Amino acid sequence: MSSEAGQQFSFDGEMLKAGLCIGLATSTQLSEQMAVSPELLSRVTDFALYASKSRGRNEFTVYNRDLEKQFLERRAMINELPQAIDNGELVVHLQPKVDLSEGTVYGLEALVRWNRNGHITPPANFVLIAEESGSIVDIDRFVLNKETDYIAVWNKDHDSDYSVSVNLSALHFSSRRIIDWTRDALHRSGLPPHLLTLEITETLELRNWDIARPIIDELHALGCKIAIDDFGAGFSSLAYLRTTKADELKIDRSLVEEIEHSEDARLLLSSVFDIAHNLNLIVTVEGIETEAQSIILQDMGAPHGQGYLFGKPRPPDEALNAASVFSGRITQSGAA
Ligand code: C2E
Ligand code: MG
Ligand code: MG
Repeated sequence: MSSEAGQQFSFDGEMLKAGLCIGLATSTQLSEQMAVSPELLSRVTDFALYASKSRGRNEFTVYNRDLEKQFLERRAMINELPQAIDNGELVVHLQPKVDLSEGTVYGLEALVRWNRNGHITPPANFVLIAEESGSIVDIDRFVLNKETDYIAVWNKDHDSDYSVSVNLSALHFSSRRIIDWTRDALHRSGLPPHLLTLEITETLELRNWDIARPIIDELHALGCKIAIDDFGAGFSSLAYLRTTKADELKIDRSLVEEIEHSEDARLLLSSVFDIAHNLNLIVTVEGIETEAQSIILQDMGAPHGQGYLFGKPRPPDEALNAASVFSGRITQSGAA
């Protein structure tokens, strides 16, 4: 069999694609630090190879000490993550979602953090690792249970009707367990289903439509809302929009960053609003950081927004106390 990396070839009636990842280390790189045995060379080459694999296919990496540190840190996290929930190390922060025309907070997004050895570790540092090791499934279930309980109690005690949005990894959409877990969370907390939104990000793993779609449909049938997260970043495709029964489209902040200065950026955003409108999706614009962006978005008719301008993710009590006094603070011309 001969095939260059990335080229397709036929094998036993199927089209296959060969991929190649290379890790490289040389004894001269190591000799100053330690005695170099073939075993040691092979071990450090693995660190380089692993770094290549984690960046995707057809990658080439040369060993350096940082790669080894990253690898060991990853391995420590993979080992520690399963206990992090039981040890009470996961904390959930809430970020307000704002009705731009009314100037009120109507809901909050739950965002997990890991209090690891006394340091708050952001999800960027561990969510991908938790996805690779599978721990994310338990993390998401923990966040779902904790925040449906929390918001249901808050709404009851304060006579409010805040909604809560929970992020779900694509890993949930290969098994029906998430349907039972969501039903249980709604039942136990008593949160009305329409006040729960499940945020899904399109990734390659989600592309097994035949399995994922019925699960998303059943979640929808429970009465909760489905949001497509980070639209405009990564793998977003129009086919996914059309085939996924969703209620909300969350526009990634990369589409918002330039709107103050670029007519093209405003045009692109406006086209996305049109698509969402035609597909009956409510739009939430993520990553609003400045008053100027908020004003432009209100002028463009964006209904909902989220971003540091209105509030960063904070511990639940702080976020909800701030949310209750927030109403009226933003005006037609932006946040006061
Ligand atoms: P996301 O779901 O798109 O959440 C929005 C992220 O953007 C949050 O980052 C939030 O803090 C940040 N953000 C919000 N407004 C602004 C802004 O105005 N400017 C900037 N620069 N950033 C803003 P965070 O909390 O670090 O979370 C990052 C990602 O990690 C989330 O993106 C989500 O994909 C993932 N994640 C967080 N919590 C969970 C979880 O419980 N389960 C799963 N599966 N993923 C989670
Ligand atoms: Mg989200
Ligand atoms: Mg997002």
